[in-house]
Amino acid sequence: MKKKLKTRVNAYFYLPVICKECIHFQTLGIVMKEGTKLISEIVVPGGHARAFEVKKGQFLEVIDLEGGQVADFFAFNQHDHKERLSPPHTLISLKSLAIRVGDELRSSRRHPMLKVIEDISPSHDLLIPACDEQRYLVDYGVANHRSCVANFEEALQPYGIGRDLFLEPFNLFQSTEIKPDGTLTQKPCLTKAGDYILLEALQDIIGAISACPMDLNPIGGSQITDIKVQIYQSV
Ligand SMILES: [Zn+2]
Repeated sequence: MKKKLKTRVNAYFYLPVICKECIHFQTLGIVMKEGTKLISEIVVPGGHARAFEVKKGQFLEVIDLEGGQVADFFAFNQHDHKERLSPPHTLISLKSLAIRVGDELRSSRRHPMLKVIEDISPSHDLLIPACDEQRYLVDYGVANHRSCVANFEEALQPYGIGRDLFLEPFNLFQSTEIKPDGTLTQKPCLTKAGDYILLEALQDIIGAISACPMDLNPIGGSQITDIKVQIYQSV
């Protein structure tokens, strides 16, 4: 039986190393508490994306460091990139537009891909497509703006995953109001500094997080800030 990860790790010792594949700072940790060990820590700079691998049985924690920042999330089956994390397949499986602790997030082939272990963030969005160049150009008249889709393309290029394989994202921490008449309103992100969601990988996955660069509507709040990704394994 799997060890239950009950609370966040709050004390660990770092052995800093530089990741060979990208420029982000990574730490390999030693831990700690509740039967887990921190094995990777990645800071996703505001407005950019980073990709990472999470093996089956490992845990992925996504943390909004300063609060008010949307984190678009993609995941792919590491062994078959055409199987992708899918918000529509998840929401019909859950019969809910919200995800809760214990829920399994489904792939495009309806297989459980990740499980929600902890979540102290106020909301997520499973409806809104990732921003792309056309979102800024067509809807706001702004050319050459950074976008989540271009960010993901950059981050996932080393894995051979291109734009043709992208589905819609899980928009972690995003707040979308849905009124009874069906009206959608993109609200300011409600997360506080340090809010997080913790997921268990149910498959070997390649994941990617984009700290969404949207600064032309309220979703990103007053500024675009960093997101942290931490990966743990049971010990
Ligand atoms: Zn975006």
